[in-house]
Amino acid sequence: MVKVLVTGGAGYIGSHVVKALGEKGYNILVLDDLSSGHKEAVLYGNLVVGSTADSELLDRVFSDFKPDAVMHFAAYIEVEESVRDPLKYYENNTCNTLKVIKSMIKHNVNKFIFSSTAAVYGDPKRVPIREEDPLNPINPYGRSKMFVEHIIKDLSESSDFSYISLRYFNAAGADPEGRIGQSYRKATHLITRALKVAKGEFEKLYIFGTDYPTPDGTCIRDYIHVDDLASAHVLALEYLLSSGKSAVFNCGYGKRYSVKEVIEAVKRVTNVDFPVEETARRPGDPAVLIADPTKLKAELSWVPLYDDLDFIVRTAWNWELNRRF
Ligand code: UDP
Repeated sequence: MVKVLVTGGAGYIGSHVVKALGEKGYNILVLDDLSSGHKEAVLYGNLVVGSTADSELLDRVFSDFKPDAVMHFAAYIEVEESVRDPLKYYENNTCNTLKVIKSMIKHNVNKFIFSSTAAVYGDPKRVPIREEDPLNPINPYGRSKMFVEHIIKDLSESSDFSYISLRYFNAAGADPEGRIGQSYRKATHLITRALKVAKGEFEKLYIFGTDYPTPDGTCIRDYIHVDDLASAHVLALEYLLSSGKSAVFNCGYGKRYSVKEVIEAVKRVTNVDFPVEETARRPGDPAVLIADPTKLKAELSWVPLYDDLDFIVRTAWNWELNRRF
């Protein structure tokens, strides 16, 4: 059976991908330092607790497990924090990724699935965004990911290394069976934060900016259920293993919801009318990010199953109410 090393597999998106891979019978090894992940989130395979910063550990993992491919999720993900502390992001998201890639090369592993982000596009010139549109990130988080995209493209052109970069739009929701979900201590993402306010863990929800050039003045995003994002990874892996061809895909539904519309959905699903306060913009936020997922559907035959904001919020709410970690 195909062996996949999954860095960051105890994190939110990584753990849902591990679940999807496990259900298909892949042999999985997760490498995660548990800085924001949870060992309970790893439903399949084995877990090595350690950091991608540790080249010696990487070497041991590659020699012992001998993966056929690497899925690389381990990264920091907060835009605002990246503006305040850019080196933290370049160090982990860019330099440590380079360490993973160098270890891959040393151990003759040449298939790489990379967690990229819609943040590489910055403020897009047009929406929906297509993969060939210019990369112009407006925050260090987006740049830390874009640099890796450039590095792996160069590498693929100079060697037999091949990769798929998946540019995530806004991952949200949780396992419909309630086993795993988002579990960050800081909970800065909109849907998770709104649910925690509905639950009473925070006093109120802040809307960051109501003066954006959008119909209701709040930012617009394309929210994708984390299991649909996970299925895109499995398809990407199958494609990479069979074709060896590098590619980049947007992962989103092409739907658009403003912050205010998401808040309405959270109030509707939870049936809680929580307090909301409008406040200043958060640094680093583009006004609108909408995917054009045509390429993912056409080339990987991706069929989303959960393209419904209320369903996304309901699965996340179920997780929030019943979570084990
Ligand atoms: N947002 C908000 N209040 C919050 C969290 C997020 O108004 O408590 C806004 C944020 O400014 C952005 C959108 O919700 O416009 C989505 O933010 P999130 O952090 O969920 O994802 P991002 O798009 O930054 O990856």
